[in-house]
Amino acid sequence: MAMLEIKDLHVHYGVIEALKGISLEVNEGEIVALIGANGAGKTTTIKSIVGILEFSEGDILIDSKSIKKNPIECKKVMAYIPDNPDLYEALTGIQYLSFIADIYKISKEQREKLIKYYGDKFELTKYLGDLISSYSHGMKQKLAIISALIHKPRLLILDEPFVGLDPKASHTLKEIMRELCNEGSAIFFSTHVLEVAEKLCDKIVIIKEGKIVAEGTTE
Ligand code: ATP
Repeated sequence: MAMLEIKDLHVHYGVIEALKGISLEVNEGEIVALIGANGAGKTTTIKSIVGILEFSEGDILIDSKSIKKNPIECKKVMAYIPDNPDLYEALTGIQYLSFIADIYKISKEQREKLIKYYGDKFELTKYLGDLISSYSHGMKQKLAIISALIHKPRLLILDEPFVGLDPKASHTLKEIMRELCNEGSAIFFSTHVLEVAEKLCDKIVIIKEGKIVAEGTTE
């Protein structure tokens, strides 16, 4: 079943048409990568999916619900990791994760279990008591990833997730993405790392100047 359906999406920035009618689907259990040159429209597509950019034409359905008409319902089942996450620097890592867990109404058991699981996987557990302002760029990115995973999203959207992660953390993220898909979630992400797209994804979509020019399996 399709977790994400983009139907004839058009997005304008003033008079510039950044997306010129994009359609694609991501099914449950699938990992799909969006690749394309700088300025092709990847971030614009992602921001439209997650409901932070208004689009003029077309529709985006998350688990069959429109992000325009039912944004809260859509956001409940989706997680988004931007390319440059803005975190609350005056909180500690664990305070931030607890805040996100509260917003998503995650039970005490689930949050404790998943914060431990993902914290250990990304080797961040021992820093969770420190202020986010003291974190390196990569540590902030890991915290943003953990905060997205603790509510077990059925659709995970990531913008350039591998930029800034060290090789071990990249490997861990790839493993986790596979795990999540094996449990039936869908993942859609943009990347410039072709090797990742090739090895990790079930499907690749290529965007050029606001239009999809190719899609399918790696072969
Ligand atoms: P990159 O690989 O460099 O991150 P991208 O594929 O994510 O690029 P987008 O950021 O989606 O590209 O940009 C698509 C087009 O829309 C570009 O032509 C860009 O100049 C334009 N654009 C993006 N954001 C804005 C904005 N806020 N105002 C005006 N034009 C914008």
